[in-house]
Amino acid sequence: MRRREIGIIGGGASGLMAAISAAQADSSGSCKITVLEKKDRVGKKLLATGNGKCNLTNLSFSVENPQQYYRSQNPEALSGLFAQFEVQDTLKQFRRMGMLVMDRNGYVYPLSQQAATVLDTLRFTLEEQETEVGYGLCGGENNRFPKGAGYGIPGARRWGRLAVWEADSCLRKHSR
Ligand SMILES: Cc1cc2nc3c(=O)[nH]c(=O)nc-3n(C[C@H](O)[C@H](O)[C@H](O)COP(=O)(O)OP(=O)(O)OC[C@H]3O[C@@H](n4cnc5c(N)ncnc54)[C@H](O)[C@@H]3O)c2cc1C
Repeated sequence: MRRREIGIIGGGASGLMAAISAAQADSSGSCKITVLEKKDRVGKKLLATGNGKCNLTNLSFSVENPQQYYRSQNPEALSGLFAQFEVQDTLKQFRRMGMLVMDRNGYVYPLSQQAATVLDTLRFTLEEQETEVGYGLCGGENNRFPKGAGYGIPGARRWGRLAVWEADSCLRKHSR
């Protein structure tokens, strides 16, 4: 049986978590998941977060007042998101991936206090679940389009040539 192809544009924190969640939801292993990252490595920004320690979440966070910890022009969307995936879900997810955490006055960090631990945890989990990362693959800004039964991403570059990368589903984060 042909495996369903899922493409995720961008290997930042959100793209990596999306790939991990998609694989966890796909218990039968019927999907092939690919992260398309335009740079030569994923999660670069993560390394700079929380002054190099990565503040994962905050134990005092409340869904009623998400803006206390997250800035957004759309607080309602934030509340909706956090109602679906709470602080405890974040902690559970990292525990499941084998990462230990510590908290300082409610601010949660990896036990190592190194943001690299968070990135390594995400990368190793992707490897374990056999999610492919296509480096140097660039999905165009607004040019994703339905193609046949699936999606084509014009501008995806592989081996230096312009190609149309095809998938059955394609995720890209909202632009803010
Ligand atoms: C200094 C600093 C400190 C921070 N500290 C914290 C913290 O402690 N805790 C916290 O929760 N948040 C923190 N943040 C915020 C956090 O870094 C961001 O919310 C998070 O990294 C956003 O992840 P993302 O995946 O949405 O986007 P990004 O990290 O920006 O990732 C997007 C990825 O997509 C790739 N990409 C973009 N366009 C394309 C394309 N067309 N095709 C293919 N790939 C593409 C990029 O190369 C990149 O790898 C901090 C931010 C900064 C700047």
